[in-house]
Amino acid sequence: MAMPQVFHSKEDMRAWSRARRREGQTIGFVPTMGYLHDGHISLVKAACERCDVVAASIYINPTQFSNNEDFGVYPRSEEEDLRKLAEAGCVAVFMPPTLYHPGGSSGGGGAAAAAAGAAGSGVDAGMVVGASEEADLEAHETWVTVERLSQGLCAKSRPHFFRGVCTVVSKLFHIVEPDAAFFGCKDYQQWRVIERMARDLDMAVEVVGMPIVREAGGLAMSSRNALLTAEDRKRCTCISRALFAARDDALRGALTDAAALQARVAAAVAAGGGRVDYVEVADARTLRPLGGALSGRSVLVAVAAFFGSVRLIDNVDFEVA
Ligand code: AMP
Repeated sequence: MAMPQVFHSKEDMRAWSRARRREGQTIGFVPTMGYLHDGHISLVKAACERCDVVAASIYINPTQFSNNEDFGVYPRSEEEDLRKLAEAGCVAVFMPPTLYHPGGSSGGGGAAAAAAGAAGSGVDAGMVVGASEEADLEAHETWVTVERLSQGLCAKSRPHFFRGVCTVVSKLFHIVEPDAAFFGCKDYQQWRVIERMARDLDMAVEVVGMPIVREAGGLAMSSRNALLTAEDRKRCTCISRALFAARDDALRGALTDAAALQARVAAAVAAGGGRVDYVEVADARTLRPLGGALSGRSVLVAVAAFFGSVRLIDNVDFEVA
């Protein structure tokens, strides 16, 4: 099994990508933060089916973490990741040491988050707000924001998050120049936000959303699952059980109202030992909160809950007749 080519500089990554394009090959792309599991690998396999060659990225993006989040302890396993990517058919991996210009007053939470992340990790070190005039000239100052879709749901407790995600995904798209990029519906709002960003900014990338891959007990696979205690790992299956039960009840007409659906899921997650960050019932396309009757609606039920200090997210979406 040939290991993928690894690129650390954006110039080398882009040169590889452009060479493939000159050969007439289509390029699939899977951005990740590493510590790969079968959910990530399902994206790589989907990309291999749709495109001639597939590249992935492994980069823990500091600007989507805030000071009190888990940037510093985010799990890593580079060698294992490269082996899994090779097995799945990925031929190129972009692993930049940093993607942000170092330097001064970059304006706002994302820059502060990056600086905070840098303190914990050495990544993007130097990106310190207001360091000096020279630093100001070097600073990363440009951010990509999707306005409405980036509000609510995960943004309520992580207001900095989607600006960081959109900015880093824009950068990665510009560097890798893929034909199609694959995202998991586990991060449902993220998928919708990136899809909208690509459309609104005329990025020549097809954004593809792929189903959630789960463990045998129903828990949505996540790199953060590795941070759970053994006890919490058992407990947190209450999230998917609550979501599936509520979806099944809604589909067979036993649960007809958005508020009742929301309350049912929130109570089940709390009873299972989770500290609910949010449970929301929303329109699956617009992500606007749904109120009243569910009939005739495309429904998204999204959950974020803490088990210990680990924040997990999950969702189901379905059409009610
Ligand atoms: P991350 O490494 O967490 O940034 O995730 C990279 C990509 O993998 C994102 O598009 C995620 O939505 C996707 N992903 C993460 N977990 C899963 C899963 N359980 N099933 C499908 N896709 C996933």
